[in-house]
Amino acid sequence: MTAWLHDTVTALTSPGPWRSFRHVFVVSFLDDGKYYLLSALVIWGVLHVLLKQRLAHRVIGGWPTRADLRREITYSISTLCVITALNAGILALVVSGIFEVYEQPLKHGLAWLLLSLPLMILWHDFYFYWTHRLLHTRWLFRHVHGVHHRSRNPSPWAAFSFHPAEALVNSMVVPITLIAVPINEYVLAAFAIHQIIRNAHGHAAVESLPRGFARHWLGGRFVTTTHHHLHHETAQGNYGLWFTWMDRWFGTERPDYFERFDKATTPRQQSHTSIGSKLG
Ligand SMILES: [Zn+2]
Ligand SMILES: [Zn+2]
Repeated sequence: MTAWLHDTVTALTSPGPWRSFRHVFVVSFLDDGKYYLLSALVIWGVLHVLLKQRLAHRVIGGWPTRADLRREITYSISTLCVITALNAGILALVVSGIFEVYEQPLKHGLAWLLLSLPLMILWHDFYFYWTHRLLHTRWLFRHVHGVHHRSRNPSPWAAFSFHPAEALVNSMVVPITLIAVPINEYVLAAFAIHQIIRNAHGHAAVESLPRGFARHWLGGRFVTTTHHHLHHETAQGNYGLWFTWMDRWFGTERPDYFERFDKATTPRQQSHTSIGSKLG
């Protein structure tokens, strides 16, 4: 019997506070697990299985191996356990009135409801950039962040492939937010869904965005799969999560980013011709 199934059965059969804690743990694990499973499965299924041949010319560096997938899924399950434990702690702080996760959407006004999601995403981008730079210091890279970098050509399953200590650092963005402001429960759910979809997409190893996107005045502000893939390839530069501005402001964007994006998005006909002319 799998662990979560065993926990569900125990949670539903044992009395007392442990029953509620286990129940919360199981429900939260399945909730976050479902987002991870669905996002990674759909993006991997479409880009790495269904369209594998058609997108072969759009592979950025190379396809991930089976061993990569196994390691990424194992570490992602471990990360889900860390997130779940943290969620149980957040819930305890919400129940005790220290954090406010409100149900009524308009309780703090329409403006806050609409602004809180983009503000959380911007704050997450800032928080990730600096903690990520810290994780690239020698000791932390060797002992913690190196786990994520074992995938030189990551797959969408690498979205949560972190050392447990890094999983904790990354997940702390939500409780730190809740220390400062109240957040609506649907905004929190949208934040989680946005982060897992873009995270799985950023590790796709295949550039699925249109040609010219990285050089577009608006598109160029978003981190693409190529952007993050180059970070995995080299472990230097391109530390950003959702937007490119932090890397540009602090001079850490890789100089070969545009060239590699263009290469990955060159139409098949043209890339065949150029390969043909090189061979010829
Ligand atoms: Zn990554
Ligand atoms: Zn890194």
